[in-house]
Amino acid sequence: MPNPRLRHLLLATLLCSTAAMAAADGKSATNLARAAEEAAARARYEQTEREIEAMLRARREAIRRETGTRVASSRSRQQAEDDGVPTGKAARHASWSYEGETGPEHWGRLRPEWTRCGAGNRQSPIDIRDGIPVDLEPVAFDYKPVAFSVIDNGHTVQVNLGPGNRISLTGRSYELQQFHFHRPAEEKVNGRGFEMVAHLVHKDAEGRLAVIAVLIESGSAHPLMQTVWNNLPLEKNEPVTPPSLIDVSQLLPQRREYYTYMGSLTTPPCSEGVLWIVLKEPVQASTQQIGIFSRLYPMNARPVQSPAGRLIKESQ
Ligand SMILES: [Zn+2]
Repeated sequence: MPNPRLRHLLLATLLCSTAAMAAADGKSATNLARAAEEAAARARYEQTEREIEAMLRARREAIRRETGTRVASSRSRQQAEDDGVPTGKAARHASWSYEGETGPEHWGRLRPEWTRCGAGNRQSPIDIRDGIPVDLEPVAFDYKPVAFSVIDNGHTVQVNLGPGNRISLTGRSYELQQFHFHRPAEEKVNGRGFEMVAHLVHKDAEGRLAVIAVLIESGSAHPLMQTVWNNLPLEKNEPVTPPSLIDVSQLLPQRREYYTYMGSLTTPPCSEGVLWIVLKEPVQASTQQIGIFSRLYPMNARPVQSPAGRLIKESQ
C-alpha cells in the first residue's frame, strides 16, 4: 500500500485541480460541490482501508505471539520429560510403549541412555528353560502391613510401598520398593505363558535390584489384587493413597520354590545386573479381576529376550 501521506497529498492536488478546472470552465458551483463530495468519499474509503490494515496487523501479531507461546511451552514440556519429570504430555504420550514406533523393538534407539534395550545380552524377560535343579537357599521373606499408594503411570498399575518389607538372600538384604503388573506375564516357563504377573521390586543398600515375579493364572478371586483395584486412580500419574495398610505377603503363593537368573529391567532403560527370582507356583485371580486390568492395559509385556547362554538355576 502506498504511503498514506503521499496519497493525501495526491488527493488534495486532485481536489484543487478539479476545483480549478471547474472555475476555469466557468461551470456552476454544483460541480465544485460534487468534486468535494467525491474527495470526501475517497477519504472515507481510505480511512476504512487503513482501519482494516491495522486490524490485520494486530491479528498477525496475535497469531505470532500465540504460536511462539505454543512452541515455547512444548519445548519446556519436552525438557521436563527428558529430565524424567512426569508431565501432562508425558502421561498422554508416553515416550515408550508396547507397540508401533515406540514399541519394544525400537526402545534401544529411542534414547542414548536406552541402548541396552537393544544391545544388551543379559536382558529380561526370558523363556525359562533348562534350569539346573539344585538346592536353592529359600528366600527369607520379612513382609508386614505397610502404607501404600496406587499409581497408574501410563505403562502399568504400580503400588508404591512404605518402608518395612525385606527379603534376605545370599547374605544380602533387599527392601521392597514397589510392585506392579503385566498382562500377559512377561516371563514364560518352558514355553508356557500366564495370564498376568506381579513384579515385586527390591533394592539393597548398594542399589542392587532383586525382582520377585509372581505368576498369575485365572481362578479364584485374589484379595490383595482386589484391594489394589479398589483404589485404582481415575487419572494417570495421580496416586491414590488409601488410609489403610497393605500386607504384600498375601500376594505370595504358599510354596516358595523358584527359578533364578541374572537379567535386566523389562522396561527402558533396561538396566542389567538385576537378580530375578521367579516363583514356580502361580497364584490365582478371577477372570473379572484380570478383565479390570485388561481394560487399562490389554498388553503391557515386553517379548522374551535371548537367554544368550545364561545360567538358570531352579529349586528342585
Ligand atoms: Zn515389571
